[in-house]
Amino acid sequence: MNGRIPVVLPPVAGELFSSWIVRHAAFYGVPSLTMLCHCLPEAVSLHVADRTLSRDQANRLAEMFSTDAKTVLRMTFANVQSSVHRFISKEPLQRCSNCKSGPSDPGPILRSDMQGWRITCPHCCRPFQDIAQGDHSHPFDQYHAAALRGEKLLDDDAERGIQTWTRPLELARLLLMRRVPCPFPRNAELWRYRVLGVAIPDLDDVIAKEGSFSPSPKHPILPLHIRPALLAGVAIVERVGPEMLQMLQAHTFGHNRNRFIEETDHLINSAFGLPGPRQMQLI
Ligand SMILES: [Zn+2]
Repeated sequence: MNGRIPVVLPPVAGELFSSWIVRHAAFYGVPSLTMLCHCLPEAVSLHVADRTLSRDQANRLAEMFSTDAKTVLRMTFANVQSSVHRFISKEPLQRCSNCKSGPSDPGPILRSDMQGWRITCPHCCRPFQDIAQGDHSHPFDQYHAAALRGEKLLDDDAERGIQTWTRPLELARLLLMRRVPCPFPRNAELWRYRVLGVAIPDLDDVIAKEGSFSPSPKHPILPLHIRPALLAGVAIVERVGPEMLQMLQAHTFGHNRNRFIEETDHLINSAFGLPGPRQMQLI
């Protein structure tokens, strides 16, 4: 192949850039990375291209695929800040059964399949299905309305940089920090207690039943059936305001407490017109 791609497959609504390249590679019978490097010789992987495609690269791709750079960029996550990347999975997390064909034909991968802050399809608003676990129980159904509010807050922050009195994505990270439960549990299974459990009291029991819980501020993508708890937690804290962060500080301890204070004091102080962060102490 030289220059312009002779047969161009139109992207489906919301398709991920790498998925579009993979479909062209299958059409032309070449490996996916070969297809990408044919268009962008400097490309190192499809995953990196999804996240960091530049305007210049988009212009070159648009020329080869007889489309416009905006269409190419819209398929990538080039619009989001690098701090949002930790909320974007490397593999598809979820799918909308309404917008895709049957399981034997998974079809194109959409941007929204990778977004760790979503529980509903942005194209038809129906609930997503978990790709890895299939149908699952819904332990946080009672928080559905708050979870949808949280989803919108996080989506506005991630995709459009819209914030309220704080960054909702930062709230999500803070809520995943560990806490010390009160009263202190006899079994001392401290791994399962998160700050989020103060806002969503059902969380502790659900995590205990799961038997493990790996999400953290560094890896903040929750399994789809538990994700509504985090979204609802963000919506609750956002609605109550900085004084809730002040209350949550009291549920942390030791180094976690110092880190939590470090990351929340400036929000509380700016909301209440107080001076800078306090001196850290281990209590
Ligand atoms: Zn859908």
